[in-house]
Amino acid sequence: MALQNGLNGKVMVTGGAGYIGSHAVLALLDAGYEVVVVDNLVTGFDWAVDPRATLVTAAIEDEAVVRATIRDHQVRAIMHFAGSVVVPESVSDPLKYYRNNTAATRSLLESAVVEGVPHFIFSSTAATYGTPVKVPVQENDPTVPINPYGMSKLMTEAMLRDVAAAHPINYCALRYFNVAGADPQGRSGQSTVGATHLIKIAVEAATGKRAAVSVFGTDFDTPDGTGVRDYIHVSDLAAAHVSALELLVAEPSKSHTLNAGYNRGFSVNEVLDAVDRVTNMTIERRYEGRRAGDPAALVADNAAILAALPWRPERDDLETIVKDALAWERKLAERG
Ligand code: UDP
Repeated sequence: MALQNGLNGKVMVTGGAGYIGSHAVLALLDAGYEVVVVDNLVTGFDWAVDPRATLVTAAIEDEAVVRATIRDHQVRAIMHFAGSVVVPESVSDPLKYYRNNTAATRSLLESAVVEGVPHFIFSSTAATYGTPVKVPVQENDPTVPINPYGMSKLMTEAMLRDVAAAHPINYCALRYFNVAGADPQGRSGQSTVGATHLIKIAVEAATGKRAAVSVFGTDFDTPDGTGVRDYIHVSDLAAAHVSALELLVAEPSKSHTLNAGYNRGFSVNEVLDAVDRVTNMTIERRYEGRRAGDPAALVADNAAILAALPWRPERDDLETIVKDALAWERKLAERG
């Protein structure tokens, strides 16, 4: 086992065959870590896992396999991305979210504690805030989720806090805002079938996979009436995970909950304007009613992450995000 970056073991990445997880795998490998991915391949793809990593095809709640993997690979840190991520689906099928996000993470945490894994990084979400009391929202503002997705993740944050108080493990919960874009080198991107996220949908429309883009809600209390979000480039987010891991290793007695965003928001119309500029097209917009569970605006106050980590955003430009998303979408379209 090589000694890397003070970790003295491998990083287990759950959901490493998925969108954000596959970018974290790339960032870890590029930084010199050894990686083992655990993914059930229900929504992820084996080809999305860089061949430098080992892929174990299993569910994270399969404690026998997860514990054996931790031992066999001397896992010293877990980055936990596996889970379900579609807000409207969480409203119609809440128990799926409490199973895949909350209960499955409870099992994973038990495996981590029993096997003595000292560091844990968790994909949390801005949806834990619900309708924020103020925008930009800060980490210690009230967390009152307005959909089961947000609640399923908030319950996991509570478990992490209690587990870290009782056992020798520290954690970083990163509350993601709206993740978009793709690896600038074209090695991975958002490949989910039936994606629901705005920038993905818009670039699918740009490549002819969809006829138009629906705009969900025009009567929000925002400057143009459409929903405002803080879009963060997936490669910046992946880099933040590596930086967070280094912090956890350097200060093993401390845990952190940090917003992962850019401290600026764009409305749905502004995003679609950027897509039109980048593609030199006019993609048809269909103005529709609000979608279940959507708050008007979510923007990160990112002072805490900037203070805690040496990490700095490098691709925090909306057109860059759209360009990278579009390049990946074109690659997928060629592949057919
Ligand atoms: N949205 C939209 N049309 C779409 C998908 C999303 O108008 O086809 C809006 C959605 O209502 C929200 C924003 O775009 O205001 C971002 O939604 P997304 O699903 O990308 O992420 P979420 O904020 O729900 O995590």
